[in-house]
Amino acid sequence: MSITNNKVVVVGAGLMGTGIAHAFASSGFTTVLVDSNAAATDKALAAVAKILDDGVRLGKVEAEAAEAGKARLTVEADLAVAAEGAALLVETVTENLAVKKQVVSTAAPKMVPGALIATNTSALSVTEIATAVEQPERVVGMHFFNPVHKMKLVELVRGLATSDEAVARAREYSDALGKTSIVVNEAPGLTTSRMSAMLGNEAMWMLQEGVATAEDIDTALRMGFNHPMGPLELGDLTGWDTRLSVLRYLHSTLGEKFRPCPLIIKMVASGRLGRKAGAGVYRYDEKGQRIPGSGLKASVL
Ligand code: NAD
Repeated sequence: MSITNNKVVVVGAGLMGTGIAHAFASSGFTTVLVDSNAAATDKALAAVAKILDDGVRLGKVEAEAAEAGKARLTVEADLAVAAEGAALLVETVTENLAVKKQVVSTAAPKMVPGALIATNTSALSVTEIATAVEQPERVVGMHFFNPVHKMKLVELVRGLATSDEAVARAREYSDALGKTSIVVNEAPGLTTSRMSAMLGNEAMWMLQEGVATAEDIDTALRMGFNHPMGPLELGDLTGWDTRLSVLRYLHSTLGEKFRPCPLIIKMVASGRLGRKAGAGVYRYDEKGQRIPGSGLKASVL
């Protein structure tokens, strides 16, 4: 492969940044993880170590490879320092255009000339994010899926200015991570987020209307359509705050069919963000296990 400079910077050590950092570090890349919140990077390092240790316990990863993966991952608070000499930046900070533009414009001048800049945005415009750097042709979407260490797909997103070379390099990186990539021309919500947002929103409308219980709506999709997970379980995993920002964006770009269900707005306002908050549509115990029978009831909506 033509990737010669091995240094990758992942910005944002949340749910996705943790998984993406693990993917690069365990695939041989020198990986630097950056977050404006030190508690997030501490948590991410522990989570990456756990994924690797679990892999060893399950016989999927050699103990030596797990230790090497941990050693290749470091954290750095200062983005400009982290970006020095890097060949790839993957930004996966909060889904906010201004924040993402700030991140890429700070990092780009510090990276090697022509470095690839990737955004993991679920629904924002790669074209717009690219306006924050010189040579916008090197900005591409690399949209990963949660949990990153289990999900094989990466959607590569071509913005208006993205070059063929940038898409090809992004594909090389995703190949190196053992992922399968598809190429999508920039469109709100790409292929997967658009479909998934519609499904999750509709499931919430059904829950709000009392059509069926949360458990039964999820069971319907798992058993009736062979989905590995129901749309409400998936929303809890993704985080309803992230879901709501995506829906608001799709509503503003694609119209009425994406109007966020009021129940999602109410849940986010009350802090029921999903698994990461200990409660979403379902409640979770301190070990993160779902509490049986805890699905939101229509009668208490
Ligand atoms: P998250 O809230 O778990 O993590 C975001 C992290 O970014 C936080 O730790 C926050 O401290 C950090 N951050 C915010 N501003 C920063 C800055 N200026 N510099 C450095 N760090 C900063 O969010 P997430 O779920 O990991 O999502 C991150 C991105 O990935 C979003 O763009 C989202 O749309 C996209 N995405 C999410 C999913 C998912 O399933 N959650 C899937 C694919 C893509």
